Amino acid sequence: MKYLSEFRDEEIVRTLLNKIRKCVTKPWNIMEVCGGQTHGLVRHGLLQMLPDQIRMIHGPGCPVCVTPVSLIDKAVELALEHDVILCSYGDMLRVPGSTLSLQQARAKGGDIRILYSPLEAVSIARQNPNREVVFFAVGFETTAPANALSVEQAYRQKLKNYTVLSAHVMVPPAMEAIMSDPDTKVDGFLAAGHVCTVMGLSEYVPLVEKWKMPIVVTGFEPVDLLEGIYMVVSQLENGEYRLENQYKRVVGKDGNRQAVDLVKSVFEYRDREWRGIGEIPMSGLFLAQKYRDYDATLKFGPLKERISEDSGCLSGDVMKGKIKPHECPHFGKGCTPEKPLGAPMVSSEGACAAYYNYATQESTE
Ligand code: SF4
Repeated sequence: MKYLSEFRDEEIVRTLLNKIRKCVTKPWNIMEVCGGQTHGLVRHGLLQMLPDQIRMIHGPGCPVCVTPVSLIDKAVELALEHDVILCSYGDMLRVPGSTLSLQQARAKGGDIRILYSPLEAVSIARQNPNREVVFFAVGFETTAPANALSVEQAYRQKLKNYTVLSAHVMVPPAMEAIMSDPDTKVDGFLAAGHVCTVMGLSEYVPLVEKWKMPIVVTGFEPVDLLEGIYMVVSQLENGEYRLENQYKRVVGKDGNRQAVDLVKSVFEYRDREWRGIGEIPMSGLFLAQKYRDYDATLKFGPLKERISEDSGCLSGDVMKGKIKPHECPHFGKGCTPEKPLGAPMVSSEGACAAYYNYATQESTE
């Protein structure tokens, strides 16, 4: 584990914190886009170690959290009313829909199965030719290639009983939406390293140029996160803005072209609603014309109109960085992991779950 321990080394962490302290002269708001980074910051107690001038804002980078209620309701409907085998990742099960979560639908008899790979869903479809199998495909750029591969395999195998309920969203359009919000408080970004592993760096260049904001592609370990923060703060303090790559050991400039080409051949970009945030132009992946037979909404009927949430969940404000999770009036009271009002409290990448599970008293004061 030497490779991992290097990125949790206490001495390096101390050195980076000192560099940040020496560099910072005024207050800066930095958004870490990815929920995995939020969990890294909270789990390792880094928020309390940073100088007071640096405020980390937790971004919308949790795919489960931004999946619209209407899609969860559609998945529930498919499982209960169309008798499909509904496959999804475990994180989705406890997220509330407008009436039921998938877990509650399963308790009512829905055949809902948790998968670790979308190719398992293709196998289930092959093994159950008399049942319809729907894969509830949730995720960002990182999971899109494997989900695209499942569609490609089903197409090649001429499977007629496999479809995808696509809830895929893209990160750069969400960053664009945050930057263009006149109320945004963000001064600079830590971009999600694993997204760039697939997509490369090119999509971030126009964002930096247009909004004149530093973006540093960053990993997930304490040393990665602190080095990324130092790189953003250095730019801000010097009045600079550019794209930098802290995560060079994993992220190459061009990403994984094979994966990108596969995603672009199976999906097309369209406007997409984000739960709690609203519609973001060209931020969703939908099945391309050639693969329309694998679109669950075409086979089983479209989603219902947008469904308003009246649970009082403030996930949108949390994911846009307007409030911290513990500033939500329901945090730890009406909303807990056992009884969540919103997705960020149950998703493994949700900011509210990070604060609930790891935050110390000081960080929530
Ligand atoms: S604490 Fe619960 S209700 Fe409040 S924003 Fe988070 S998930 Fe929503």
